[in-house]
Amino acid sequence: MAYRVTLIPGDGIGPEVTTAARRVAEATGVSFDWEVVDAGEAAIKASGTPLPEAVLDSIRKNKVALKGPITTPIGGGFRSVNVALRQQLDLYASVRPSRSIAGEGTRFPETDLIVVREATEGLYSGVEHWVDRDHSAAETVNIITRKASDRICRFAFELARRERRKKVTGVHKANIMKTTGALFQMAFREMAAAYPDVPADERLIDNMCMQLVKKPEEYDVIVTTNLFGDILSDLCAGLAGGLGVAPGALYGDHLAVFEPVHGSAPKYAGQDRADPVAEILCVELMLRHLGEKEAADRVFRAVWETIAEKKFVTYDLALPGYTSRPVPPSTCSAMAQEIARKIPLVDPRAPIPRFRATTTASADPSLET
Ligand code: NAD
Repeated sequence: MAYRVTLIPGDGIGPEVTTAARRVAEATGVSFDWEVVDAGEAAIKASGTPLPEAVLDSIRKNKVALKGPITTPIGGGFRSVNVALRQQLDLYASVRPSRSIAGEGTRFPETDLIVVREATEGLYSGVEHWVDRDHSAAETVNIITRKASDRICRFAFELARRERRKKVTGVHKANIMKTTGALFQMAFREMAAAYPDVPADERLIDNMCMQLVKKPEEYDVIVTTNLFGDILSDLCAGLAGGLGVAPGALYGDHLAVFEPVHGSAPKYAGQDRADPVAEILCVELMLRHLGEKEAADRVFRAVWETIAEKKFVTYDLALPGYTSRPVPPSTCSAMAQEIARKIPLVDPRAPIPRFRATTTASADPSLET
């Protein structure tokens, strides 16, 4: 029987990378019945609203969605569709694995981290206002609840126990935020005590950033509040090779939405240049969620082999920082076609060798903005 999955192409490079991901998903032999719905700019054109009720209904009904990135206007305009989707469907756990896969230029080839970010409250509460008519001051409310802190910490410890990860690090700023930070810290400490078999430690967010760029191999699962998690997951994506290769998943109690860490990269929209790997690795995470382990392993292996061969890699992975011999960049669609071609040919059980680190400064695309 086919899995019925909601597919949201998204904005900017979204339609290109979701088309690529769909092609790879179909090459695994697992059957999918895609229900394509629009959110973001395409939905505004069609129905006047960026997040039509039909999108929420489709995800509630199918329980699984594959999503492309969606543009959010800066400083004004409509509220973020991404934030609204997480809040309205109570997709509270944003899980972003960072595994070194981008090739020889990866600065930290041993990187294997998972950021677990609370995704429904904190500084993304949407409760904000100008203090006066002159707009000389503004306030945003940081909402932290015991319920949301408990469930995200429990999620992180359960994940660490299930996947035999080496430890969970709770990240906060309880020294300065003496109510919101302290509440999250208390929830983390009590959850750590309830999981005595899973090692745990804590870091302040500023120290965590410094520690991650100096010795990421000392960390494993990181659990934190919404804004800190957003920033840390981009940082970890950079450690593992850049935004072009960083997938993500959003989980609620009964729903799961798979989306890359990167945004809609408008400057590359419609050029067939974007790296499809992050969206393709979202398919890998989705297959694992569906219990299709062998298909998921095939996707990861095919991506890894394609990057290692360097015959069909997009511009970001063809830059000098990522390869000892320059290669002409491939298109998004050609790279996806190559990954799809390899899917039935790869050995899904073969161990994945580590890439060699180089001392060349990485030409990471996320440094370009
Ligand atoms: P971005 O991730 O879209 O782009 C940052 C830079 O990273 C790009 O200029 C590009 O050089 C590189 N990059 C990103 N994805 C790439 C890919 N697949 N292949 C190759 N290079 C890639 O971030 P931004 O410019 O800050 O945001 C653009 C828009 O995306 C904004 O409207 C933002 O709100 C939105 N956004 C959406 C999501 C989401 O839908 N979950 C996440 C982040 C940002």
